[in-house]
Amino acid sequence: MAIYTPPLRDMQFVMHEVLDVSADLQAMPVHADMDADTINAVLVEGGKFAAEVLLPLNISGDTEGCTYDAKSHAVTTPAGFKEAYAQYVAGGWAALACEPEFGGQGLPLIVNQCFYEMMNSANQAWAMYPGLTHGAYAALATHGTEEQKATYLHKMSSGAWTGTMCLTEAHCGTDLGLMRTKAEPQGDGTYRLTGNKIFISAGEQDLTDNIIHLVLARLPDAPPGIKGVSLFIVPKFLVNADGSLGARNGIYCGGLEHKMGIKSNATAQIVLDGAVGTLVGQPNKGMQGMFVMMNAARLGVGNQSLGLTEVAFQNALAYARDRLQMRSLTGPKAPDQAADPIIVHPDVRKMLLTARAYAEGGRALMCFSSMLLEKEHHHPDEAVRKESGELLAMLTPIVKAFITDNGWTATSGCLQVFGGHGYIKEWGMEQFVRDARINMIYEGTNTIQSLDLLGRKILGNNGATLKKFGKLIGALVAEEGVNEKMAEFITPIAMLGEQMTRFTTELGFKGFQNPDEVGAAAVDYLRVAGHLVFGYFWARMAQVALRQMAAAASQGRPSDPFYLAKLQTARFYFAKLFPETATLMRTARTGSKVLMDTDAALA
Ligand SMILES: Cc1cc2nc3c(=O)[nH]c(=O)nc-3n(C[C@H](O)[C@H](O)[C@H](O)COP(=O)(O)OP(=O)(O)OC[C@H]3O[C@@H](n4cnc5c(N)ncnc54)[C@H](O)[C@@H]3O)c2cc1C
Repeated sequence: MAIYTPPLRDMQFVMHEVLDVSADLQAMPVHADMDADTINAVLVEGGKFAAEVLLPLNISGDTEGCTYDAKSHAVTTPAGFKEAYAQYVAGGWAALACEPEFGGQGLPLIVNQCFYEMMNSANQAWAMYPGLTHGAYAALATHGTEEQKATYLHKMSSGAWTGTMCLTEAHCGTDLGLMRTKAEPQGDGTYRLTGNKIFISAGEQDLTDNIIHLVLARLPDAPPGIKGVSLFIVPKFLVNADGSLGARNGIYCGGLEHKMGIKSNATAQIVLDGAVGTLVGQPNKGMQGMFVMMNAARLGVGNQSLGLTEVAFQNALAYARDRLQMRSLTGPKAPDQAADPIIVHPDVRKMLLTARAYAEGGRALMCFSSMLLEKEHHHPDEAVRKESGELLAMLTPIVKAFITDNGWTATSGCLQVFGGHGYIKEWGMEQFVRDARINMIYEGTNTIQSLDLLGRKILGNNGATLKKFGKLIGALVAEEGVNEKMAEFITPIAMLGEQMTRFTTELGFKGFQNPDEVGAAAVDYLRVAGHLVFGYFWARMAQVALRQMAAAASQGRPSDPFYLAKLQTARFYFAKLFPETATLMRTARTGSKVLMDTDAALA
């Protein structure tokens, strides 16, 4: 079985030493009393739940999978899942970051995000059952009527009911404008929905007694395309006026997908057979509500790969220190043993450090993004709310695509550290790789994220949001530009920032003449932007580490090796990973012709 130790010290480092989240939180009236001790105490308990309850169910759940009963349309989750869910609810974990007015505990989103990172490390597939509920909750809290909020949100915040997102149909995944599911008004404020959805995560389960599906469908008079899509709440069981469960609704699971990873999460085909639903938001404006859920889910998917990167790293590190093969190139390091541990070999260290650098860079970005979301909703200053929302909109595709692409590289590298043993099921490594793969696909494939970033979020506003992030880098450069010890971190990000400005203008100009130029460059562009963002956070982490080490030296005490480890990882990141930006900009600049002028090659 895989091992996992919740990375609490690393989380505390990012939250309290790098980002100083308590100060930011205390500036918001809803979190005026929040402090580091409270956050840390909750996460200690959250880590126990992940490591002690969910981790033991990860491999067994993957092996057993979910079962479907065609007669009753029921889905049974693997052994232990139901009990773990009951513990999750009893522990109040579902309510952590939900608003007190809907029965929530009102803790900051960053606490929930760190808790979910740990659950994703321990068992991504299990964590998806409650995980999707948060996005559905947010969509209803933002766009639902008072009656809808009163009917559903308390039950969702307590974990009594889960939520799903039902967008995809067999012929329509990326292009939701092709959607066919219909919604007929009944004249009493309700609608009857008919159609077939596929690939619906947690679409059916035996963990809760109701499931609240958020479904996209078309009204009879809807204009064609995405502008004719509306959003509906369709509960598995109708809810009576007194809140009790009513009749079974005409929405059911028609079968489960058999798939590569996250096998213990039920990926359901959902049949809507005249199911009763109510409209969320305005007719034909369904994407507004669904985008609240999709944006939450995109951040959640980045967090899934962060969790997998961390747990894969922990396991590979332990194995590399233990496994004896060959001697170090510079002479035996364990002369009393038959061979040296493989951690002495440079390339093994490279794979380990890659995973570590991606996990810790990803955690800094995730925590920063959670704070932006918090500020967007709760900061008393309207200008801060607006600015936070805009920056988060730009960072969301980077969180989703950069962290999940890195997660794939990292989990695959960590499997490689195990050699053939990584390919064998018992160590758990091959499961991390399989589970990590879906994160690059769902919630809008990573290609779609890159088009969203370059086409809409960057070129769509002439680089204004990129300049906002540039300001953060500018402030760090101004603060540390003359500090020689920081030069190895500051110089690369300052240079890349300048190059990105030219690079973006160039792509905008080429894209204006030929839109395929944007499509051809977008994936490379997102990776460059991802490194700019990671570079910024790694520079800030190195800054804190250097300051702590200097403080220890000036007081004549040994420095905590934790900080030296951060510094070494920062140096590795800037030396071995960040420089891929030069190649990426070069390949992006080769343009679209070598892709589009290739009909013979692709005939
Ligand atoms: C395990 C699993 C769980 C899922 N969970 C859910 C869920 O809970 N709810 C839900 O609604 N859906 C869910 N999905 C569906 C998922 O979101 C879609 O599979 C995904 O959005 C891609 O759609 P598609 O599979 O139809 O691929 P397509 O849209 O057919 O795309 C195929 C390929 O073409 C590329 N492509 C398409 N358009 C463009 C373009 N304009 N430019 C460049 N490339 C393009 C894509 O990037 C992709 O590589 C899930 C899928 C899986 C496998």
